Amino acid sequence: MKEIILCKYGEIVLKGLNKPYFESALTKEMKFRIAPAGEFEFFHSQSILYITPKNDSCDIELALELAKKVFGIATVARAAECEKDMDKIIETAVAYLPDKIRGHRSFKVTGKRGDKRFPLTSPEIATAVGSAVGDLLPEVDVDLKNPEITAVVEIRENCAYIHAGSERGAGGIPYGTCGKATLLLSGGIDSPVAGYMMARRGALIEALHFESFPYTSERAEEKVAELASLVCEYTGRMRMKVISLTEIQEEMTKKVNEEYFTLLLRRSMMRLAERAAKASGCMALITGESLGQVASQTMPALVTTDNAVNIPVLRPLIGMDKEEIIEISRKIGTFETSIQPYEDCCTVFTPRHPKTRPELDRVLAEEAKMDFKTLEDRAFESMRIREIRRAIDA
Ligand code: ATP
Ligand code: MG
Repeated sequence: MKEIILCKYGEIVLKGLNKPYFESALTKEMKFRIAPAGEFEFFHSQSILYITPKNDSCDIELALELAKKVFGIATVARAAECEKDMDKIIETAVAYLPDKIRGHRSFKVTGKRGDKRFPLTSPEIATAVGSAVGDLLPEVDVDLKNPEITAVVEIRENCAYIHAGSERGAGGIPYGTCGKATLLLSGGIDSPVAGYMMARRGALIEALHFESFPYTSERAEEKVAELASLVCEYTGRMRMKVISLTEIQEEMTKKVNEEYFTLLLRRSMMRLAERAAKASGCMALITGESLGQVASQTMPALVTTDNAVNIPVLRPLIGMDKEEIIEISRKIGTFETSIQPYEDCCTVFTPRHPKTRPELDRVLAEEAKMDFKTLEDRAFESMRIREIRRAIDA
């Protein structure tokens, strides 16, 4: 029996004339992302991407797991393929479905006649297949209203497909179709979620991490690389730039008023991030900031950090509660790593009384007390680049 993977498009279905662009980006991304599962053929029609194994060594289960994390797909299903002939369909269904339905309390079969030339209607297909499968499963009830599992027979353009229900895909827009941005990635809970959310909307993500060795450890940087690698489950790969803030921070402790420490550091981080972004064609910065979460994320504080740069700053978490952010971080699998206790450059020199309502002219006056420009030039020159992969590719 031939098994394939059916991926139904998400938002791409709404794209008018641009649909082919998104479709081909999706297919290309899918090819790359499921490659560890073997060699497959790809075909798309009527807002479905059909993924067919080229040989017996393909791992369909693995391909399905990987496909579920590709943005642009609403649902995925592993399905048996057969000729569009009712006898063949029933023969395939009785061979394929019982194993998948057994163990459930109730089931039903639905028909989807995507090809209107097929002689039977959707309910007729469902009844014929449902009764044939039901005969083999006397212990499982047929429940048309509220079944525990719904098997589906889809009649499509070329073939019929039989499956035991589909699973949710990753949603969103194909990765990398909406422009490139630099994600300021810390070891916390928020920034990996922010990166995931923008990647899901089609942004191609490059990460930038600031360390402050020896105040932050090598292990702290590895934790951030691990978070980037977990986000790569959804993006396939990611470049991570690393810049050291050690000199800048040491100079700040000598020269500037402690109350302004965090704000000035954040402005410096933003300037460096803008340079790193522009150097690789990124058109925006992404941060994990959420309004009011900490002193540096009040409205006046955000205005003060934005004022340091000439590049849009995207903050996908801005209106979210911590609980909501944590929920996503658990869902995407970054939470457990994020909560490991390692130091961050933002927390090694924290003021006891940070400014929550900074005035820009006071901030600028404080900033003028030291030569940020020269120190930032040096920090930028010593930037390191790491290529991050998914665990499966590493
Ligand atoms: P959490 O709030 O969950 O501890 P966080 O990453 O949001 O983690 P914040 O102190 O709230 O930490 O920082 C706000 C934002 O600034 C982060 O979301 C991130 O985008 C950026 N940021 C903070 N520290 C760093 C860093 N060391 N390197 C790169 N970006 C950073
Ligand atoms: Mg935060």
